[in-house]
Amino acid sequence: MEATVATKKLTLRCQFCEAWNRIDAARAVDKPKCGKCSKPILLDRPIKLDDETFERTIHGSEVPVLVDFYAEWCGPCKMMAPFVDEIARDYIGRALVAKVDTDHAQRATQPFGIRGIPTSIVFKDGKEVARHVGATKKEGLEQLLRQAV
Ligand SMILES: [Zn+2]
Repeated sequence: MEATVATKKLTLRCQFCEAWNRIDAARAVDKPKCGKCSKPILLDRPIKLDDETFERTIHGSEVPVLVDFYAEWCGPCKMMAPFVDEIARDYIGRALVAKVDTDHAQRATQPFGIRGIPTSIVFKDGKEVARHVGATKKEGLEQLLRQAV
């Protein structure tokens, strides 16, 4: 009976110095620091992804990634934001929670044919495994994440 627990990694760009970091998902809760500038990489809240960071983060993360596609002017997105924040806190180390501002990240958004926001998509190994269109509450987001397990 051998049980080797593979360490799952996250791939994230430091929001301060823009260096790319590989982080043990299991240590996300220990307030990891950027390998280059030593500033904290905060994972207890959604991370912002844009055209430059989207692909690499989605493909380089070995835990499911929940992405909230939103826009600043979108009322239902604002109503949903606290639930997205909660999921980020609750799932720290088990999932990565990210937000994409669809107005400012069109290259990242375009391949998914998003016709309405908010749209929530869960990615696993870089591939879409679950999607919800329209606002949802915390339970709805948890349900989406369960489809990636
Ligand atoms: Zn840094």
